[in-house]
Amino acid sequence: MNARERLRRYLEQRRELGETEFVLDGMPVEDVLSLVGAPPGAGRSDGRPAARVAGRQGAGATGSEAPAPHVPVPPPPAPPPSRIAEGSSTDWRSTLKAAQTRPAEPMRSATPEAALPVGAGAAGDADAIARLCSLQAVAEAIASCTRCGLCRTATRAVPGEGGPQAELICIGEAPGADEDREGRPFVGAAGEVLRKGLAGLKLAPEEYFIANVLKHRPPGNRDPEAAEVDACAPFLRRQVELVRPRVILALGRFAAQTLLQSTAGIGALRGRVHQYQGIPLVVTYHPAATLRNDEWKRPLWEDMKLARRLLDEARAGGPPGTA
Ligand code: URA
Repeated sequence: MNARERLRRYLEQRRELGETEFVLDGMPVEDVLSLVGAPPGAGRSDGRPAARVAGRQGAGATGSEAPAPHVPVPPPPAPPPSRIAEGSSTDWRSTLKAAQTRPAEPMRSATPEAALPVGAGAAGDADAIARLCSLQAVAEAIASCTRCGLCRTATRAVPGEGGPQAELICIGEAPGADEDREGRPFVGAAGEVLRKGLAGLKLAPEEYFIANVLKHRPPGNRDPEAAEVDACAPFLRRQVELVRPRVILALGRFAAQTLLQSTAGIGALRGRVHQYQGIPLVVTYHPAATLRNDEWKRPLWEDMKLARRLLDEARAGGPPGTA
């Protein structure tokens, strides 16, 4: 008997014993069973349809809705504690994960009904995150992520927002107090600088996506720790893969150094075109820095114009991925 069949029998047994919730990452028994192909059972106590298989509830989004043209990744509520069944063995947890995980889709074919792999938000591994099929699924995984301790001190996750097929991604360091409160990136004073600049470049909101290296705010805006960056990196990587922008704008030293795996200072990194995942990347000052020092306003604007020029050139060269 293969592992999938064993798992199905085990879950059916649990259901016969009267369990209505399979205590693994908050998934109801019926959902898990339907994932492994079992027929619906009678007597659900929560009244939810047994056939629903598209991932977890909660986090303010179902993952089964059609994506809006401008993805307003919803401000997710504080994540529920992850619950792992007593006596659960890694064996069937990984079987379950495999049953829910879909192979990575080709670029720009992300499906809105992406199933969230079990544990992708909690104990999930980078491979599971790399298989998330839509920005919405990534946002849900971020909303329930406990891969580092920041989820315990932050108010909300801040997954990022923007056009699902944006041609420019702006990447900052981490949410600040305003972002932590609203669950949206760059909504404070620095965000005003950034968004004004983007409007100055004549880019509509669906033409850009804004994200951060870290998806939860470090307490007191302290510097992110290496372990936090490592824990969060798969989310940003997947967002970039799914959006597949033509140009990336790294905002500030921290984002630039992280994306480029460099220890060089911002002065050395600015003024040339780097690559991240084969995508042209421009480094600039963090918009917050320009609030402290007027001198950096002009270079920020020049760098943003460089990003815009690269975008125009790439557009002239054809669809994304053909340059
Ligand atoms: N600074 C950042 O780096 N990111 C934000 O979202 C806000 C401020």
